[in-house]
Order: sequence, then C-alpha cells, then structure tokens
Amino acid sequence: MASGSARSVPSAERSAGATEKVVTGPRTSSVGELLERSHRLGADPANTNYAGGNTSIKATATDPVTGNQVELMWVKGSGGDLGTLSEASLAVLRLDRLRALVEVYPGEEHEDEMVAAFDFCLHGRGGAAPSIDTAMHALVSSANVDHLHPDAGIAFATALDGEALTRACFGERVLWVPWRRPGFQLGLDIAAVAARHPEAIGVVLGGHGITAWGATSEECEARSLEIIRTAQSYIDANGRAEPFGSIVAANAPLPKAERHARAAALFPVLRGLSSTDARQVGHYDDSEVVLDFLARERHGHLVSKGTSCPDHFLRTKVRPMVLDLPAGTPTERALNRLRELHEAYRAEYRAYYDRYATADSPPMRGADPAIVLVPGVGMFSFGHDKQTARVAGEFYINAINVMRGAEALSVYEPIPESEKFRIEYWELEEQKLRRQRPQKALATRVAFVTGAGSGIGAATARRLAAEGACVVCADLDANKAASLASGIGNADAAVACGVDVSSETEVATAMQAAVLAFGGVDLVVNNAGMSISKSLMDTTVSDWDRQHAVMAKGSFLVSREAARVMVPQAMGGDIVYIVSKNAVFAGPNNLAYGSTKADQAHQVRLLAAELGEHAIRVNGVNPDGVVRGSGIFASGWGAQRAAVYGVAEEKLGEYYASRTLLKREVLPEHVANAVFVLASAELSHTTGLLIPVDAGVAAAFLR
Ligand SMILES: [Zn+2]
Repeated sequence: MASGSARSVPSAERSAGATEKVVTGPRTSSVGELLERSHRLGADPANTNYAGGNTSIKATATDPVTGNQVELMWVKGSGGDLGTLSEASLAVLRLDRLRALVEVYPGEEHEDEMVAAFDFCLHGRGGAAPSIDTAMHALVSSANVDHLHPDAGIAFATALDGEALTRACFGERVLWVPWRRPGFQLGLDIAAVAARHPEAIGVVLGGHGITAWGATSEECEARSLEIIRTAQSYIDANGRAEPFGSIVAANAPLPKAERHARAAALFPVLRGLSSTDARQVGHYDDSEVVLDFLARERHGHLVSKGTSCPDHFLRTKVRPMVLDLPAGTPTERALNRLRELHEAYRAEYRAYYDRYATADSPPMRGADPAIVLVPGVGMFSFGHDKQTARVAGEFYINAINVMRGAEALSVYEPIPESEKFRIEYWELEEQKLRRQRPQKALATRVAFVTGAGSGIGAATARRLAAEGACVVCADLDANKAASLASGIGNADAAVACGVDVSSETEVATAMQAAVLAFGGVDLVVNNAGMSISKSLMDTTVSDWDRQHAVMAKGSFLVSREAARVMVPQAMGGDIVYIVSKNAVFAGPNNLAYGSTKADQAHQVRLLAAELGEHAIRVNGVNPDGVVRGSGIFASGWGAQRAAVYGVAEEKLGEYYASRTLLKREVLPEHVANAVFVLASAELSHTTGLLIPVDAGVAAAFLR
C-alpha cells in the first residue's frame, strides 16, 4: 500500500499524447521539443507536483488567413500533468495579441478579468483552455519558460527569510519575487525582473515555486534543473540535521502487519467521518517519509502551519487533521479521540471560512479533512474519487519535503491564512470545479465482487466500474482476478485479490486489503459459486460440504466481514446475493446446489431484517441458465446439465432460452444490469428483494 517516489500514471493518460492531432495547424518541431521537455521534467515528483506547473515555447508559424508569419506561444493549458502532457492539452495563442493586453490591463484589482481576455488571443480554435499562468509565459520575453513547483524550490519560497536565502544560494542568477496570487500582475512582476536582470536564469516565487527561462528548450530545461539541484544541494550542505526534531519512541512506526491491521481498523471510521458533507474515497500511505515525519517531535507544530503551494489547498485543505495520541493507543480510544478531533476540525474550518469569506465568495465546500495523519500508522487521504484521494496524499508528501527543507535552513512560514483562503475560494477555481463532469451513478462507492474471475462476476465487476465504483475483484483464481482488474483500469479503478470464500481467515484478509485500497467497502456482491449436478443417491458428503462451504458459508463469511466494515463506517451499504432460480425451483438432480441456493436466498431476507437499522440494504438476483462465460458451466456442470436434459452441451444456452417465457438467452451482462439497478439510488427504499433474471420461468415465480 505504500506509495513509492515514482508517479503512477493511468495508462489511458500515458498513451494519450501519441495519437492526438494538433488542432491548430501542422505540428512544429517546437511543439515536439516542448512536449519532450515537459515529460522529462514531469517524470520526477520532486520537480513538480502532479498536475502542477506549466511550460511554454514561442515560435513563428504561418497564419493560414494571411499567409504571413505569425508569432505564437504554445503553453500547457488548464488541467493535465506535465509528465503526460499531450499536444491537445496545449493552449495556442498569438503573442502580438497577448502582449497587447498589457495596454488594456485594468490593474491588480481586476486582474482576474484578463483570463477571459485570453480567449481573444487564441490562434485558431486555440487548443486547451488557457490557464491563469498564461500571462507569466507570455510576458517573459524568452522563447521558453518553465514554471514548476519543486520541493527544494518551495522550501526556499516558504522559508521565513526566503529572499535572503535565495540571494545567498544563487546570487544574481536567480532572483526573488514576493508572494502574490497567480495572475496577470505576477506575470508582469516576473517579466520586469527578467528584463532588469538579463544575467538571471529564473526566479523563486515567494510562497509558491520557481520560474525559469531560456532561449532554447534545452537551455530552459537545464536552468530549471540547475535551480532545483542547486537549491537541494544548498539545503543539504547548509541545513541543520533533524529539522523535524528527534524521534519520539511512542510515535515510532508500528511493525508492518500491526500497522496495516490498525490502519484497516481506523480507515472505515475515518472515511465515514471525512464523508460527513460529501462521500469520499480513501487512500492510505505508510511510506517512510510519512512515518518518519509523524514519529518526529515537531510534527504537530508543523502540521498546524498547513500546506504551502497554491496548488495544494483545494486538494489537501489548509491543514490536515492529526491524531495526538501515541501509536500504541488502543484502537477504541484512538477512534474516540479521532471523532472528537473531527468535530473540532469542522468547527475550526467553518470559523476559517467565516473569517475570510466575503459576499462574493463561493459557498463553503465542506468542512471535513482531506488528510488525516496517525503517528505510527500513516496518512489517510480522501477525495471524490480514488485518483483525487491519492494525489491529495502525494501533495502532502510534497508538503513534508518542503517543510523539511525550509526548517533545515530557517523557519517554515507558508503564506498567510487569508491568502490561502483567497486561493481556496477563488472565483476562478470555483469556475474550474463547475466545469467538472457530473459524477457517475456509483462514484465514491467501493465494490467487492466475489467470483469476479469469469461469467456473472466479471460482467458485474466491469459494470460497477463503468458506473464509477472502485472495484475489488476477488476470485479463488488470483490470476483471473488480476487480469480482470487490469482490464478494467489502473489501481485507481480496480484491484485484485485471490480468496477462498470458504476460509474465514482468507475472507478477513481480503476485506482488509479492500479497506486499505479504497478506505472501506460499500457494495458487496456475493457471487462466488460452484456446482455439482447429482441425484440424492449419488451425492457424497464431500459434494454436499463443498457446495455449502462455497455458497452458504462463503456468502455468510463475506457478508459478516463486510458488515464489520460497513457498520463502523456508518455510510450505509449494499449486499447483493447472486442466488439462482434453483432457490425456489425444484430442478432435477440438484439437491446440494438447490439447497445451498435456498440458504443464500434466506440469508438475503434475514440480513435485510438485521442490517436495515444501519442503512445496509440486502437484496439478491435469481438468474437462470447463464451459460456463456460461466466458470461453473465450463467446469463440468454444463456437461452434466446437458446430459440431464438430453441436449448437446453447446446447445445448452439455446435450450434454456427455449423453455423461457421470453424465449431469450440470459447473459452475464443481464445479471450485472440487475445488480447495478439494485445498488443504484433508484431502488434506495428496497431491501430483502430477489429479482429473477431468467427470461421468464413460471415455475420460479416468487410468491
Ligand atoms: Zn504555480
């Protein structure tokens, strides 16, 4: 579960750059240089945080309207990440028009209006939407500009005496620009410094990051890296040892197994608390940098100072919530304290909002913490989807690195809280949030599907993922589970685990893995099954036991483990049983299978009655004759049933269809559809229900 230093990138994002066509004319070699430079810089999170920073290049091209040469600027647009920047994510603007904006600039009070003016500077359709940083790239005269958020650079930018340190470290080569919220005026400030100091290669932006420039792409990249590496070397050479103080034994990391067990016990409760205003997905990180920081004596003091870079506040909130008890505190006591701290955090956040909000401020977005720190255990981060939760955690690791550097040299002093508020509740950020696509039906839900390796389980896992759920694909065959999960997407979308549902310990381990992956569980699908078709006389005790172990006992164990997560999580939940027509229909030669299916059907009713008070709904689906893709049918049951009915095995689907009222074959996707409907908001007031998905079998009608 620990996240390493390498940045994980969704595979779809990674491949996007290669195939997209430029929308504004033939690709110039300059654009290629810019993309390659951006990818190299963005590959290391120490150079810039995820989706942070931007790069640009200026070059001439032919204006298709006049045939004349025109000066253009390609700059990373709003959103996206440098490491995976594609041509489609670049804004393309005319430099003559951008520079003309200086003449109409109405002053700092109205600088936000300049963002709308960028639309009148676009070349052709202009590619991606220009970001707030477009002005700094346009107004600095060099052909290439990098604006980055490197940990070492922000350490200088957030040091109490950052300006003096910058001079001591860089002399006249890199200059200081005092804090100012990003925008047109900051662009003018940087351009003025660059114009006054032709020998300078870049600037440290107080409270923010760095900007470097160069005549060629190569020179610009080299200068960016020079600033970052020089800053880091200066910290290494001049910083004091142990800037976070010494290790407090009581806060030292718990041993790994104990740490993960503790994390799994805390996580659902923390997720429930962090979802008080809006449902969240979680991410857990127990990397060494996090555990070391939390073990140090000064972590509490530094946490209270909050994060630093303007990119951070929307993702991490102004500051994290931190448990102020030793690592070995009994779980129940730790949980009670976390509940108290959460109440206090919400009150404090509301007070922060009230302190700075004006009549024009957007409404408060929610008062729950995005980052929760637990000494000895790790960091829990939350977001409206898994990627957002993970990136929030990555940002806080950036913040830890920044604090370490700043405290090594001086005193960490991020921008004032009032300025943090001006960023967090900036109208331009609010507009960006409003442009986000609406959430899918099952967004923020964590699904756990058993028997996900094939047939109904695989179709269900895919459907739930397509509807926005994070999915844990569980199967007896770990390889099948893994290939399904990787087919669905990266680890933000789906993870796999091998589990024998008839084993109490394996089910508990699998549920713990699910909790550590996404913060909890909301939607459990009891689908794992196996089948032997035999008459009473032929059924052995072992046949009977195996079928009951997988289905009746297996779904009991999975439901019990799920309830142990869902109840303390206090976010409600869904348990869906894939039962069978055979739960009600007395099919031929089917004693063990039919009996255990009837057991599962009654578990639906019993658990619906028992778990209703926790807002956990328990429903089921009664499929029949789902042959295609079925692991059960492929493993001999198909041949056995075909023999019982006197048809060829490959005709079994057709045979089942022929005896239905609708004369239609039932496919795994039809069952998956029913699971989705049962778990969706449309049936929010339904529990204890079994839905037949059998194309109509009168003998299996429920009554
Ligand atoms: Zn920035």
